Amino acid sequence: MSIVFTGKFWSIQRFVSGYSNNAFLITCARTNNSVVVDTPANPIELIQARKKTNPTFILITHGHQDHIEGLNDVNGDSDSLVGIGQDDRPSLPIPNTFGIDVSTNQNLNIGDISIRAMATPGHTPGSTCYILESTESIAAGEPSHVFTGDTLFPGGPGKSSSHKALKKIFESLETHIFTLPESTVVLPGHGEFTTIAKSNREYAAFTSRPLDPTLSGDVTWA
Ligand SMILES: [Zn+2]
Repeated sequence: MSIVFTGKFWSIQRFVSGYSNNAFLITCARTNNSVVVDTPANPIELIQARKKTNPTFILITHGHQDHIEGLNDVNGDSDSLVGIGQDDRPSLPIPNTFGIDVSTNQNLNIGDISIRAMATPGHTPGSTCYILESTESIAAGEPSHVFTGDTLFPGGPGKSSSHKALKKIFESLETHIFTLPESTVVLPGHGEFTTIAKSNREYAAFTSRPLDPTLSGDVTWA
């Protein structure tokens, strides 16, 4: 476990398990209410840490197995509502029992904090990013955070199965992610973190070059 961020309004803990997957536990500083982002396999530390909080939702960035393998373990005795983009919901082990619709950009309230879901199709049809921000935190000079799953990493987008899917990721990023404040911290589903400022610079350099019309797969901005 490592602590990613502790501020006036929320804290974020990171747990690495499964296929080097990141799972995050976000906790409201005042109410101790918490939300989980992604549930990779063997989430032992995540489960322990979550027990010290008041668990609310579990949010899933997309339906690939490595992000949901630990869902039943995490949800075991709590029956939390599980948010996942509608088009990825069939991937859930229990698709119709606990699903809540996060495809419509509504806010989910966890104590004093609110998380905005953004449908960002491309890596999978139901890929969803979760934005943790508040006017109070921005006023207090604290960074916003965005959980991008496999849609955006340091140095490139997530894997695309076709050129059409890659273009879809670009469209999602341009519409919803690259418009966030530049200080926003990007927390992807695997590996280390980046910022919107850095991602914007990398993407600007990428789009200044001609786009190979067959490009897909593991793409980097460089
Ligand atoms: Zn994936």
